Amino acid sequence: MSTYQKQSTTESVKGKLPTPGSGIEIKKAICSICNPIPHCGIDAYVKDGVIIKVEGARENPHNAGTLCAKGAASRQYAYHKDHILSPLVRKGSRGSGDFEAVSWDEAFDLTADRVERIRRDSGPESIVFYAGYPKWMRPFLKRFAHSFGSPNYCTESSTCSAAASMAARLNYGVMGRPQFSKAKCLLVWSNNPFYSNTAAVRKLVEARERGLKIIEVGPLVTPLTAHADIHLRMRPGTSGALALGMGNVIIEEDIYDRKFVENWTIGFDEFRSYVKQFTPSFTEEITGVSAGLMQKAARVYAKAKPAGLLTGANATVYHTNGVQNHRALTALVGLTGNFDQEGGNYVVPPGYLYVPSGVVTRQDEFEQSRPWEEMAPRVGQDLYPVWCKMVPQGQAIHVPFQIKSGRPYPIRAMIGFGVNHRMWPGPDFMAESLSMLDFFLDVDIFMTDTARMADVVLPACTSFERSEHKFYPERYVIWTSPVIEPLGESRSDTDIIFELASRLTPHDPLLREGYEACIDWILEPAGLSVAELKKYPAGYSLKDVRKPEYRKYEKGGFPTPSGKMEFTSSILKEAGLDPLPLYEEPKYSPRSTPELSKDFPLILTSGARLPMFIHSRTFRLPWPRSLRPDPMLDINPKDAAQRGIKQGDWVSLSAPRGSINVRANLTQIVPLQYAGRLKTAMVRRLDWCDYLRDHEEMPEAPELDRILARFYLW
Ligand code: SF4
Repeated sequence: MSTYQKQSTTESVKGKLPTPGSGIEIKKAICSICNPIPHCGIDAYVKDGVIIKVEGARENPHNAGTLCAKGAASRQYAYHKDHILSPLVRKGSRGSGDFEAVSWDEAFDLTADRVERIRRDSGPESIVFYAGYPKWMRPFLKRFAHSFGSPNYCTESSTCSAAASMAARLNYGVMGRPQFSKAKCLLVWSNNPFYSNTAAVRKLVEARERGLKIIEVGPLVTPLTAHADIHLRMRPGTSGALALGMGNVIIEEDIYDRKFVENWTIGFDEFRSYVKQFTPSFTEEITGVSAGLMQKAARVYAKAKPAGLLTGANATVYHTNGVQNHRALTALVGLTGNFDQEGGNYVVPPGYLYVPSGVVTRQDEFEQSRPWEEMAPRVGQDLYPVWCKMVPQGQAIHVPFQIKSGRPYPIRAMIGFGVNHRMWPGPDFMAESLSMLDFFLDVDIFMTDTARMADVVLPACTSFERSEHKFYPERYVIWTSPVIEPLGESRSDTDIIFELASRLTPHDPLLREGYEACIDWILEPAGLSVAELKKYPAGYSLKDVRKPEYRKYEKGGFPTPSGKMEFTSSILKEAGLDPLPLYEEPKYSPRSTPELSKDFPLILTSGARLPMFIHSRTFRLPWPRSLRPDPMLDINPKDAAQRGIKQGDWVSLSAPRGSINVRANLTQIVPLQYAGRLKTAMVRRLDWCDYLRDHEEMPEAPELDRILARFYLW
């Protein structure tokens, strides 16, 4: 029997592997459909220059042979009919979609001519360099912007994870990630790794099987819930109160880390007296989480040393008071002495492109080719002083305001990559502003309705058609080569940057030399080179990279103004903002606007992940789309029954700002009086949109920072 089984297995494996006569080659690639950390390794089966199949690369320690539902549809992504296949120049009116195909030289020359004229007339700062998705070209676009003389390198991070990152850095100066394998307890706050980080889930499940305790925090039932010991389902927008309630329990029961708090923090006394009011019963009243369950979670997290905190990129900060809420929950890490501890939130510096590999590179030096002082103030610098102090970018939120007002100087052009005007709060406002530009270039893989507004559209290729250098957190590195020829005339994003730079910043010696030379320069301190990386098409493990020590603050202090963890933020205090992580109700909620809640009784959140979609990137692909063909609203069956709604009905979903039509999906994963997980960007950020509608002028600093501390928009 065992012999038969063995033979059978061997035969089936033989049948699967491409034999020499099949003409099929397995080539190494990476998936870049989602954000920079996964970038799962892919085996692309290529025959006659066409990808016929993809599989997860087994040797890649990050995804270890797996692909998520999005990556599995990579062929559909690479060969989709909506790909832009040649450079396009606008013929008709803005947004009409009337373009003419031109040669690359014509497109580059026209762009250089228009941009050069605007630089001559209005200064280099009047041109915004913007990076949306994907993110791999960002260091090169930033260098291009600064070499050109513009301080206005902006990214979608202005409306994304930068808020959460800033909140944690206001407390600690830097933030660490949990180590699943070494933690005894994991507090997962508004994060669903089963859908958003499938490669990491394997390690999480393994740790769970070894006895890791999991506390899940978030209103929805998720795949993680089945693995969680405790699930705290708070009312959306009340994370700050819940965290302060947990802080209160931990302090009152004297289970906080006294030694860490006494030696390495400032503002503890103020924090302690502030959280006193967040008694378990008061916290329950605000959050809806039972006092007993919250107390239990606080005790488990504080006592199970070491314990890690895993937060989402933006679920907690997409609310009014988001930054302060996120500060409150990340303060629990220091309070319990889990900062930069083995099994706690361990700090590994990012080597290149946000990946905490521990490899030392020159990315920062490369990007910032000109000091800020030599350039004009960044867009939004006077209005967003805290942002500009902490994030080396312009504040993209302010771009449409400055286009419209021309103050303090005009913004007249945008060189954009993967621009999506729906990333902005008030998408219509952004679209209107884009239409006012004297020149708008958008580079994208697909024709989008933002690209339709551009004067010039340039076709980018996918990760299968270009080379890319990539580190992984597991200290693994890869250099990919194209596995197929670029489709049509599409080109790598970085090639496009270097071609534009050759016309607009010919004085920059590194940009003149191209992608490989730039990567060599960036990697020089790590002792790595492109020539060496190319010898290993499947990538390799970096044996010489030493893991950073734990508790690095004991030697160098914290990178905060005080050199300690700050329960009271020096930066916020200096900016005239509340230094404590104070809780405020969401701007619209049953508590803050009870009258409004009579007309709008359900609480809506949007943006929670589904496994087959990320933002708007895979909606057009047949496999992911077949799993949810229409925009759907998840609603509790009891809430649906009260309204006479049945599964699959088209319903009108109304918020104070407007209505959209979606199909109803009746599901118990959504609590009562809560309509969650709407997969559309159309109704995101209602609070800010309303602010825009109610105020014709942007407020002055520091009022704006005060508002932003309440909103989620850093
Ligand atoms: S998680 Fe999925 S979409 Fe993201 S890189 Fe991996 S396979 Fe691609």
